[in-house]
Amino acid sequence: MTSPLYDVAIAGGGPAGCSAAIRLAQRGARVVLCEARTYPHDKVCGEFLSPECSTLLARLGLKSELATLGAVPIGTASLAAPDGVTWETHFPAPAWGLSRRALDAALAERARAAGVEVRSGTSVVNVAGNLGEAFLLSLRYGGKDDCLRSRAVIGAHGKRSSLDRALRRQFLIRREPYVALKAHFRGPRLPGRIELNVFPGGYCGLSEIENGTANLGLLVRESVFQAAGGAGPAAIDNFVTWLRRQNPRLDAWLGQASRLDERWLSIAQIPFSPKEAVVGDILLAGDAAGVIAPLAGDGIAMALRSGALAADLVLRYLDGKLSAAELRKNYAERWAHEFGPRLRLGRALQPLLMQRHAASVGLRLLKYVPSIGRALVYGTRDLGLLEKSDIALAENNL
Ligand SMILES: Cc1cc2nc3c(=O)[nH]c(=O)nc-3n(C[C@H](O)[C@H](O)[C@H](O)COP(=O)(O)OP(=O)(O)OC[C@H]3O[C@@H](n4cnc5c(N)ncnc54)[C@H](O)[C@@H]3O)c2cc1C
Repeated sequence: MTSPLYDVAIAGGGPAGCSAAIRLAQRGARVVLCEARTYPHDKVCGEFLSPECSTLLARLGLKSELATLGAVPIGTASLAAPDGVTWETHFPAPAWGLSRRALDAALAERARAAGVEVRSGTSVVNVAGNLGEAFLLSLRYGGKDDCLRSRAVIGAHGKRSSLDRALRRQFLIRREPYVALKAHFRGPRLPGRIELNVFPGGYCGLSEIENGTANLGLLVRESVFQAAGGAGPAAIDNFVTWLRRQNPRLDAWLGQASRLDERWLSIAQIPFSPKEAVVGDILLAGDAAGVIAPLAGDGIAMALRSGALAADLVLRYLDGKLSAAELRKNYAERWAHEFGPRLRLGRALQPLLMQRHAASVGLRLLKYVPSIGRALVYGTRDLGLLEKSDIALAENNL
């Protein structure tokens, strides 16, 4: 039996894939979204939704869900260097703390409600074909092979996936120097604030999510992790013991906190170096197209926004308003214009922040010249997306 022809097939059901899927379905496209894992699931992430996310989620019909899911408002970011120097800044509109378990599952549910065929537990193994002749996606579901056909494909499969190998993407040949860890804790309250604690070779974010839980997400150079933690099953515990000696504020918090998750989640080989936004005839959205330094706290917003951008251009292609060549070109150009500058700024700032003395000098500078701090916060995000009502809320309530 031949499989049906979808208008659009999407690989990956995180914020980028769901955003694209919802937008397409809202405008009448026949969409299938394949997500390798089943919902709900945890992800290595700071679980901080930057202010722009409110607008982007509202456009998908999800804004009221933030409160329903128990997301907590965050109005302040506070950075602390290893020598105790701190710097604080206030967001121009509320940011939110919400677990990825809750966020990604809510996005997938919204996609289903909008008419998307969500196939969870289904990996896209390979993609053949092109925009002119249609695509054939090879799938793996429950240990069995399957396939489907579509007129367009959006790759939203995250930072690094087996699908990237199948597509022979160039970034895979580079060795990446960072690892990341994440776990949930019960600890001293962090009301309305996200704390970024810097240590030699990395930084660690702490903020509250739903149910009075705190999320700890950190990024560290692999060489520092290995030197501090060694190898074997105790590596993470050894590393955390070392970490506590590197930043007094983090040490004080961890000393009064207990881990709720049985295990730390970890990932390695995080590709911060540049990637392509279009491979063959496949448009890539979210981390599949480019990974922003976590210090910017903007990856989820970028994923939601780039998914929507891909969807809007694909709709124009499906309506015959863009040729295949125009679709590829417009998307690559719009993507580079919108996201290129903030990715470059994040890449430049990240290694600076990880150096003990540079972090301390930098934070002192930000304290005395606040306009530089504001320029950095604005430079790593698209604050044009903020709604006036959200800005008023930040000014009055937070
Ligand atoms: C340490 C760290 C902390 C961070 N903290 C923050 C933060 O606080 N705030 C923020 O905004 N951003 C943060 N980020 C970035 C953020 O996590 C990502 O930018 C965001 O998750 C990107 O969304 P996405 O949809 O592109 O990818 P993902 O969320 O990774 O989703 C991709 C999905 O594709 C699925 N998939 C993969 N391969 C396949 C396949 N072959 N077939 C089908 N499905 C597949 C995966 O299972 C996954 O669910 C952080 C990143 C790191 C590393």
